[in-house]
Amino acid sequence: MPTRTPLGLLLIVALAAACSTSTSGEDEPVTGLNPDDFPAEALAAEITTEACTLSGGTKTTCYRVTITGAPANHAVGPFCPRTIDDGPADAGVWIEDGQVWDLDGAFITGLASFYDDASWQLYDPVSGEVNVTDTQESCNAAARPDVDPAYQNYCVECSLDYIADSTITFLIPTEPVFQDTTSDFGMMGKVGVSLSGVVFDPPAPVDAILGAHTIAAFDDCGGHVNPHTGYHYHAATGCSVEVAQDDGHAPLLGYAMDGFGIYGMVDGDGSEPSDLDECRGHSDDARGYHYHVASAGENMFIGCLHGEAGSAQ
Ligand SMILES: [Zn+2]
Ligand SMILES: [Zn+2]
Repeated sequence: MPTRTPLGLLLIVALAAACSTSTSGEDEPVTGLNPDDFPAEALAAEITTEACTLSGGTKTTCYRVTITGAPANHAVGPFCPRTIDDGPADAGVWIEDGQVWDLDGAFITGLASFYDDASWQLYDPVSGEVNVTDTQESCNAAARPDVDPAYQNYCVECSLDYIADSTITFLIPTEPVFQDTTSDFGMMGKVGVSLSGVVFDPPAPVDAILGAHTIAAFDDCGGHVNPHTGYHYHAATGCSVEVAQDDGHAPLLGYAMDGFGIYGMVDGDGSEPSDLDECRGHSDDARGYHYHVASAGENMFIGCLHGEAGSAQ
């Protein structure tokens, strides 16, 4: 009898150890967020730590990352062209069919044939002026999935000046918790935070945008402004602050809501990793589990989260 208690205890300890290794994801090192990766200009406050509960119920410690909401290293806009004579430098881009298109005047005049839909008429055929939501009122009415019918056939843009408080606070787990299952970002959820101090947003609701015959213009950095999130990215076009990797791996661009790193699409040799899972993640010895962004034309960064998510507000 006296020997049964220690054996039972050993068994429990062994089981607990087995459980904790299986939830932390394979047997590789888990590398989480490094506060030093963010330039000071990207942050509205110093990064601190606090207790938090993740999406899967895990009680742990999170970094509190409060971004300014304005990119640390590049300008915001331009978005919509003003006239059909405007060139690529006067406006931003549109994303369609896996490609990034210059949203210049020529693109605006070609929309009816581009989408094979004669209802597209984003400009005045006499003056050549493009219909642009260039007031706060029109931005509020048009920069939403249920576009106000008054702003059908508009190029939609909003100014960051309309946003009273553009800061966003993320709680990101200091140690990512890998899960065997994956999860979505949710309609109002966030993909993560870029090192530029800008939100990585889920895919733009392109069907709703095009259904209203609107173009929710992106700037050349793949970002735009809406009244709820402020300035946010939908595509990685090479504008984000990057942290180079000394082993030839793609550079770090930011962190997902689960704390795993988000890296560029291709490694130093120009090739995209061939072993990415449905979330666009894989593991290596130096970084543990991490993600690689999709190409800019895909209206997405990563496919899903493979770890328990923190939160954003
Ligand atoms: Zn958006
Ligand atoms: Zn990788």
